Amino acid sequence: MATPCAQLIIRDLAVEYGSIPALQGVSLEVQAGDMAGIIGPNGSGKSTLLRTIARVLRPRRGCVLLDGEDVLRWETKQLARRLGVVPQESPISFDFTALEIVLMGRAPYLGRLEAESERDLAIVRRAMEETDCWELAERLVTQLSGGEKQRVIVARALAQQPEILLLDEPTAALDINHQVEILDIVARLNRTESVTTLIVMHDLNLASQYCDYLVVLKAGEIFAVGTPEEVITAPIIDAVYGTDVVVARHPRSGRPQIILLPQSTRAGATANGTGERVN
Ligand code: ADP
Ligand code: MG
Repeated sequence: MATPCAQLIIRDLAVEYGSIPALQGVSLEVQAGDMAGIIGPNGSGKSTLLRTIARVLRPRRGCVLLDGEDVLRWETKQLARRLGVVPQESPISFDFTALEIVLMGRAPYLGRLEAESERDLAIVRRAMEETDCWELAERLVTQLSGGEKQRVIVARALAQQPEILLLDEPTAALDINHQVEILDIVARLNRTESVTTLIVMHDLNLASQYCDYLVVLKAGEIFAVGTPEEVITAPIIDAVYGTDVVVARHPRSGRPQIILLPQSTRAGATANGTGERVN
């Protein structure tokens, strides 16, 4: 359950790998109940930002405040009750079953050596049913497909019942039906239980569709922050991705949607390479 004061403040972050900078001067405020997307090209620092918020990486400068307190000072179990994380890669090399993985989401609520209660199991089952992986419960995660495993990892984060969900490209390995299913679940949790959501999205159209506002990263810095209408524009996409696109409206929601322009369809392109204009 979210409390009205849940809030993340990201202040002047600089993060490096060795001496190579990955983020510089990144500042952002996320209010309780926000549904925020993080977009930007490969290598722009999206995962680094999420991993720094989740305390996987320690910033060289700046800080991440959760309820006004630096995440580095939070007690691990307390932090895990507040923050659920779906990383971009979840290497699991041990032979855990899917059910065992999702049960790990309850660990922050259990005492040392305390077994899960009926209630914990019910929460886990619900999370697995919601993400359509309950039928995989007894399967070994090492033997699941990328998309099946991803649904198990999302279920684990849901079983944590966090106030803040951090998701790094959670739908990248999924079929379109499961992409929409997972994003619908996240959107519903956000709407009905005010779960603050920070989601890295590879697909700009889904980001536009699901997020209230988008943070656009370019080369480790924030290039723009705004509503999908404000940031999904041809000039911004061109400036950040170096790609010429047409921005149209979603026929149902009216949200901006990009249409890629293959070389052959651009204004001025030729039909047969002879210099004859197509339009
Ligand atoms: P994104 O998620 O936007 O694709 P990342 O945050 O993963 O980008 O990476 C940002 C930059 O940091 C990239 O230049 C990437 O090569 C570099 N980087 C990411 N992870 C590591 C790592 N473990 N060691 C060294 N450099 C890394
Ligand atoms: Mg990434």
